[in-house]
Amino acid sequence: MRILIVEDEKRLAQTLGDLMEAHHFTADLCHDGEAGLDNALSGIYDAIILDVMLPGMDGFTVVRRLRQAGNRTPVLMLTARTEVTDRVSGLDCGADYYLTKPFDSEELMACLRAITRRQNDGNDSNVLTYGDLRLELASCLLVCGERSVRLSRKEFEIMGKLMSNGDWVVTKESLLLSVWGYESNAEDNNVEVYISFLRKKLAHLKSNVSIKTLRMLGYHLEVKP
Ligand code: CA
Repeated sequence: MRILIVEDEKRLAQTLGDLMEAHHFTADLCHDGEAGLDNALSGIYDAIILDVMLPGMDGFTVVRRLRQAGNRTPVLMLTARTEVTDRVSGLDCGADYYLTKPFDSEELMACLRAITRRQNDGNDSNVLTYGDLRLELASCLLVCGERSVRLSRKEFEIMGKLMSNGDWVVTKESLLLSVWGYESNAEDNNVEVYISFLRKKLAHLKSNVSIKTLRMLGYHLEVKP
């Protein structure tokens, strides 16, 4: 994969570049919005990591212009600010995901993996699979061998996100954001409640898949040996 990093804090840009290389990705660095947009328009990147506060042209404008030009490269936006309005304008202008600084490198890699996978898979698949599980998107049925259970809308959305990320960690924050949205007052323990419902259903299905908790970080699936 080839990743474009647009970040004016040079040390952070370099750290991100090193992180990409550690994961065997190729990284190109830019330090201002205009150079970032020029590079992004080349269309050679699998994903773009884009800071919001940039000299020249801010990150929102970069991603908006990119989308206006018909470029759909997945964009992960970074910001030091945490206001909800920033998150909304980030996603409104066409970014795929939003991460607040400071962030954990594992979390960043998980987000990157999720946005690029979404791009590669397209939306045409009607079934997600992981381990011995099959999630049927049209009917919300979770199937394991002969057994199946119907999931509620929220269980379905959470399970879908976990299954499409496979072994990768899905953060609580991203579950809250994608399942409950920005406006809601849902908190971490809402996620925990639904994860416990899903664990009961996995036990009922006698699946070899379990939901692992990484404290302070989020969840991922694992196939029991
Ligand atoms: Ca900045």
